[in-house]
Amino acid sequence: MTVFKKTAIEPIQQAMNTNPIRLADGTLLPRLGQGTWQIGEDPSKRQDEIAALRLGVELGMKVIDTAEMYGDGRSEALVGEAIQGIREDIFLVSKVYPHHAGLDQLEKSCDASLKRLKTDHLDLYLLHWRGNVPLSETIEGMQRLVEAGKISRWGVSNFDAADMLELSGLQGGVNCATNEVLYHLGSRGIEYDLLPLQRDYRMPVLAYSPLAQAGSLRSELLQSRAVKDIAERHEITPMQLLLAWCIRGGDVLAIPKASTEEHVLQNAGAALIQLSEDDLVRLDEEFPAPVSKIPLDII
Ligand code: NDP
Repeated sequence: MTVFKKTAIEPIQQAMNTNPIRLADGTLLPRLGQGTWQIGEDPSKRQDEIAALRLGVELGMKVIDTAEMYGDGRSEALVGEAIQGIREDIFLVSKVYPHHAGLDQLEKSCDASLKRLKTDHLDLYLLHWRGNVPLSETIEGMQRLVEAGKISRWGVSNFDAADMLELSGLQGGVNCATNEVLYHLGSRGIEYDLLPLQRDYRMPVLAYSPLAQAGSLRSELLQSRAVKDIAERHEITPMQLLLAWCIRGGDVLAIPKASTEEHVLQNAGAALIQLSEDDLVRLDEEFPAPVSKIPLDII
């Protein structure tokens, strides 16, 4: 584990606590958290990944997002190891497979996640995507887990606006805390309808793949003239710019995944960045906001 200078860490910690995201129940969360997809899969990277997650928590990125699906539980197991001794500092999120979201399976899945995570409760439990189990049954199962103290709250993931409308019309549906969806500069569809809808419901968005993962779309973003120019002027990296853009509005909490301390430090530093109106206009010109409905992007 690298020891970073206090002067590098303290300003980030302070920035992380300003302009927090507010859940409907009043819980305040920093605008940046940590993803864990594909973490825990390579034993040779294990210690680096644990050190990276712990540094992220020290910097204030206390939301850790995992899922029973990730590496068939290996991601949860690594997170369980990483949070030993600091559980109370973490806002722990996991997700259940849609085919485990019925009353017969949900509690078993939750118990298995808790065991791998070596904890007695989740702060947030998400339905990973919509499947064949009726939503009303999943809501009932989630409410039972809340009553049993196994989860503090529940939410959904990969729900488009129509799904959210349907959910909110069901008994108990308004208790959904959040919807975790794909959102980054190159994929802005949610700004047309889903983001405003969730704003009305006081359900902040958890933004996954905020760095556009690795791949061709990311290359396009990083090669953009606007991204390069703005990053250069702020003396930040293009990745930091992508994150600062993602969390600019006050109702999006981004969960970048990073497996090295260097990447985590850089990502956390995005909390310090204030993009100007001119920056945003320039980015809009290259990556326009949607002007009509675009179906939700899903990985
Ligand atoms: P991200 O957009 O977060 O990108 C992750 C990639 O970016 C990794 O290759 C990582 O490399 C690299 N990276 C991170 N920081 C930096 C940096 N500062 N400089 C250069 N490269 C960097 O992709 P994810 O798809 O992982 O999304 C984030 C999280 O969202 C997931 O881990 C998961 O928790 C969640 N998610 C949820 C989904 C859902 O259906 N609900 C679907 C997809 C993701 P390295 O690891 O080497 O640091």
